[in-house]
Amino acid sequence: MKGLEKIPMLPLRGMVVFPSMIIHLDAGRARSVGAVEQAMLLDRRILLVAQKNAEIEEPTPGDLFSVGTIAEVRQLFKLPGGALRVLVEGTCRAQVRQVNALEKYDEVEILPLHDQVTPSLEMEALTRGVVHRFEEWVKATRKIPAEALVSVAIIDDSGRLADLIASHLNLTVEDRQKLLELIDVGDRMRKLYAILVHELEVLAIEHKLGTEVHKQMEKLQRDYYLREKIKVIQKELGDQDGRQAAVEEYKKKLEEKKYPEAVQKTIEKEIHRLEGMSGYSAETAVIRTYIDCLIELPWNEATEDSIDIKKAAQVLEHDHYGLKKVKERILDYLAVHKLVMEKSSGKEDEWGKAPILCLVGPPGVGKTSLASSVARAVGRKFTRASLGGIRDEAEIRGHRRTYVAAMAGRIMEGIRRCGVKNPVFLLDEIDKLSHDYQGDPASALLEVLDPAQNCTFTDHYVDLPFDLSSVFWIVTANDMAGIPRALRDRMEIITLSSYTEQEKLEIAKRYLLPRQRKENGLTAGNISLGVGVIRRVIGEYTREAGVRELERKLGEICRKVARRIVEDGAERVSVAAKSLEDFLGRPKFIHSKAEKEPQVGVVTGMAWTELGGDILPTEVTILKGKGTLILTGQLGDVMKESAQAGLSYIRSRSKRFKLPKDFYEKNDIHIHLPEGAVPKDGPSAGITMATAMVSALTNRKVRSDVAMTGEITLRGRVLPIGGLKEKVLAAHREGMRTIILPKDNMRDIEEIPKAIRDQLEFVPVTSMDEVLDHVWVTP
Ligand code: ADP
Repeated sequence: MKGLEKIPMLPLRGMVVFPSMIIHLDAGRARSVGAVEQAMLLDRRILLVAQKNAEIEEPTPGDLFSVGTIAEVRQLFKLPGGALRVLVEGTCRAQVRQVNALEKYDEVEILPLHDQVTPSLEMEALTRGVVHRFEEWVKATRKIPAEALVSVAIIDDSGRLADLIASHLNLTVEDRQKLLELIDVGDRMRKLYAILVHELEVLAIEHKLGTEVHKQMEKLQRDYYLREKIKVIQKELGDQDGRQAAVEEYKKKLEEKKYPEAVQKTIEKEIHRLEGMSGYSAETAVIRTYIDCLIELPWNEATEDSIDIKKAAQVLEHDHYGLKKVKERILDYLAVHKLVMEKSSGKEDEWGKAPILCLVGPPGVGKTSLASSVARAVGRKFTRASLGGIRDEAEIRGHRRTYVAAMAGRIMEGIRRCGVKNPVFLLDEIDKLSHDYQGDPASALLEVLDPAQNCTFTDHYVDLPFDLSSVFWIVTANDMAGIPRALRDRMEIITLSSYTEQEKLEIAKRYLLPRQRKENGLTAGNISLGVGVIRRVIGEYTREAGVRELERKLGEICRKVARRIVEDGAERVSVAAKSLEDFLGRPKFIHSKAEKEPQVGVVTGMAWTELGGDILPTEVTILKGKGTLILTGQLGDVMKESAQAGLSYIRSRSKRFKLPKDFYEKNDIHIHLPEGAVPKDGPSAGITMATAMVSALTNRKVRSDVAMTGEITLRGRVLPIGGLKEKVLAAHREGMRTIILPKDNMRDIEEIPKAIRDQLEFVPVTSMDEVLDHVWVTP
């Protein structure tokens, strides 16, 4: 065919090159390399034709489109492995008429195709439309630089313009090929326009989808985030359900009640801290306990006083049997303070200036119950704290909050329990305070009781000053000696002593039995229990200064009676003295501590302990030895010295006792006080030990119904002792008939109830010789 050009052909895979396009192409296949090399040998021109299917390695003519682009090779690089990289510029469309497969490459016979343009308004409109759409497209995709727009804008040739735009678009091979095949520029523009519109639509949809997906994603993420947050919140709310509720409760309480400003502020601060707490922590519990404490403390709450001495007398009388002197003294005390208060126009603080009421006496004699009666008598609330065995100052003043499991001290606890700031506050067993490295509780107590300091008492835990000045303090002690000195001076001391058997009987009849009956659900009709029974309980089942054990025993009887009524359906159970063992088991104290038969070397002394009086049997045995004085039975130093003094007295009187001069050199003297587990001390067993030694050395029997007490000097003088009343009551209880006592103590026997006094013979003595005049069993 004439007019046909023959040039080498380069088949393209997956791409179409438009005229005016400059592009790098790689020729890797052998025949492609051959084609390029051939082009270089000729005029550098080559036909670029797209393969219909990019996969095919060795395309046949049927695998190629029939329209391609004539291009000029501008540059050529050899790549490693024999491949070539060429820079080509498309120049003109061409129709492939014939493909000749030569040895090293394919040669095509082509017919160049030239653009056909008919300038028209439509053409102009189309051109503009295409340019606009292209601009939109560039903006929308942002894939090609804005400069591309400039290069487009300066082209007049609409055919070239269309090709340039087409080359920028990311089109399929088919679309590109179609555009390449459109020789008519109008058609090409139309097609391009359609493609652009389509692309823009796709882009718009893509964009919309994109934002929707984005929104969707965002929404999902937000939801997830919120849900997570809710979870956390719910967890918090769930875990600390109580906490949130508590915060509300605290706030409500803060509004309801008036607190001192500092307290209010602290509570608010702590509530705030509690609210701000994240997650559960031990700290929240600590804060809550603290807020609870502050909220519950009666910062302003107080009861009105009503001191009517007559009424007070009635209350005391109603609650307690006997205790005449004690009641009198309490009433005196109240009367004085009523006056003081009236003078100071009822200022409550005046209570703080009053001496502290201190009730001293053995256990179970009614100290505690008297204190609570006093509260009733003056119309105040009653609270108490036991101080027995407190070593740590913090027990009184509280632990600092930095300390784990810190809490308020016993004083603030007591105040909190009673809910007012002016209760009658009983401090039990003040003589049992001990002190060690933990600080001195007594000094803390002094601060509590000192009116100069207690108006701003600051518990370490509470950490805010609390006004204790309107508290009515009553303290109790078993032993005066145990009360810290500094405190003793500030106290109005009232002593209570042991009850006599008769008093116990009355108390049991009037108070203890009715109370126990009631507590065990019995009526007076259910139980018949006579005086004889109570006497037996007192004498054989209890041995005490007070009535605690007695009350317990009566309670035991009542419980047994109640059981019989329920089990046997009995209406009334009588408890007889004879059948007491059915209720209480075998008696504990049938045998008196006093040896019934007079013996050599055995003397009954009398002792005073915190538990009241007691008798103190003293035994002496003489053994062959070297003059050692052996003392056993947990004796204190004072007692040992006292024994030594007794021995010295005996030595000085050896002639009178007809003892060999060297008696103390050849014998060991063993003094033993039984009940060795109980520590004993004090000088008052002096005459007892001396008497027992004389008895043992001279082999004479001592009367078993004589009890004695008194300190001895080296020369045998007898000095007065303390606690006589308790001692005598104990001796009487144990069946003693004669009491030998220092003459100076005679004035104390006034305190002993007359009924008891009348049954005893008192022998006042000033010297050991006088003692010995009364102790021997007359043959
Ligand atoms: P204390 O405090 O001295 O150890 P309590 O006050 O605890 O003794 O008394 C023990 C029990 O004995 C209480 O139930 C108390 O009511 C009762 N009690 C003690 N003395 C009397 C009394 N004189 N009249 C009536 N009951 C008494």
